[in-house]
Amino acid sequence: MYIKLAILIHHRKKLLILLITIFMVMFMFFFGAQEQQQEGKYSGDGTGGEAQVSALVKRYEPLVAKYAAQYGVSDYTQLLLAKMMQESGGRLPDVMQSSESIGLPRNTITDPEQSIDVGVKYFAGVLKKAGGDVKLALQSYNFGTGFIDYAKVRGGYSKEVAQSFSNMMASKMGWNRYGDVNYVDNVLRYYTGATYGVSAAETGTPNAMGLIQPLDTKVTSPFGVRIHPITGVAKLHAGIDYSCNQSPVPIRSVKKGTVTKAGWQNPSNYNAGYGQRVYIDHGGGLVTVYAHLSKIQVKVGQPIDQGQSIGLCGTTGSSTGMHLHFETIVNGMKIDPKPFVGGGA
Ligand SMILES: [Zn+2]
Repeated sequence: MYIKLAILIHHRKKLLILLITIFMVMFMFFFGAQEQQQEGKYSGDGTGGEAQVSALVKRYEPLVAKYAAQYGVSDYTQLLLAKMMQESGGRLPDVMQSSESIGLPRNTITDPEQSIDVGVKYFAGVLKKAGGDVKLALQSYNFGTGFIDYAKVRGGYSKEVAQSFSNMMASKMGWNRYGDVNYVDNVLRYYTGATYGVSAAETGTPNAMGLIQPLDTKVTSPFGVRIHPITGVAKLHAGIDYSCNQSPVPIRSVKKGTVTKAGWQNPSNYNAGYGQRVYIDHGGGLVTVYAHLSKIQVKVGQPIDQGQSIGLCGTTGSSTGMHLHFETIVNGMKIDPKPFVGGGA
């Protein structure tokens, strides 16, 4: 009896060690499957505009430019001035109305430079969390960063999504209203000439196989077996990754075809696998896959032209940075897309 018990305990120990080992291996695979993060400064969406602001705001331009440079958002200096125009018109000491963003009561900050420092830093953080989507970042500056995740699973920023978030928060807090649902429009009326979404050319020139690239950006990770730098675990990277330059750029279909899948790979876990993805059947045994999208612009069964935008680049699913994971499936087998579409810019 005692011996039997001892054996059982011994076996339990073994079982435990086995379970821990299995867990560790799964853990390693999980990290092995993580897509490479692309660091970089945020530029693209909503840049190139000019602030249309009062002289009271304009006098802060050198300070805004200084902190924008410090926090890596120099391309948004003019937009930040437009935001200041909306927040205070340059008339209050807390010019960016940034006290609340660090948990202080309104107008606690009395030094304009500190207000700019805090406000620009907060904007840079929100823009990063919004994956470079400037309208989503602006609305989140007003609503709080909780809006980012809320909007991401609802196809990104739109006035309707902002309104429903505001309604939800107002009823949660027992308030009459929550935030400014028109905040994006209110800021952008002081900001003209910007380009949004960053242009991917409508069509590229088809190659000898009649295909174009889904993006004109550079390939950050090729097809092939990838060894995880820390765990040493080998895993097949079954596609190629294109940089999106941290912007929700439109992604185009490489060839005419029909959408066969469009939506979340795993609707109960937005952080799993490919996240929001699109499959297009081009006929002749060729299917292409576009993964980690922030927004899908097509539906299953829809005929697609070559070069047509099928969605926006994102970082949904198992991904740690904004990029496009692109696959070519030929007769049911995932093969290297490079011979089909080339190797990026
Ligand atoms: Zn990938």
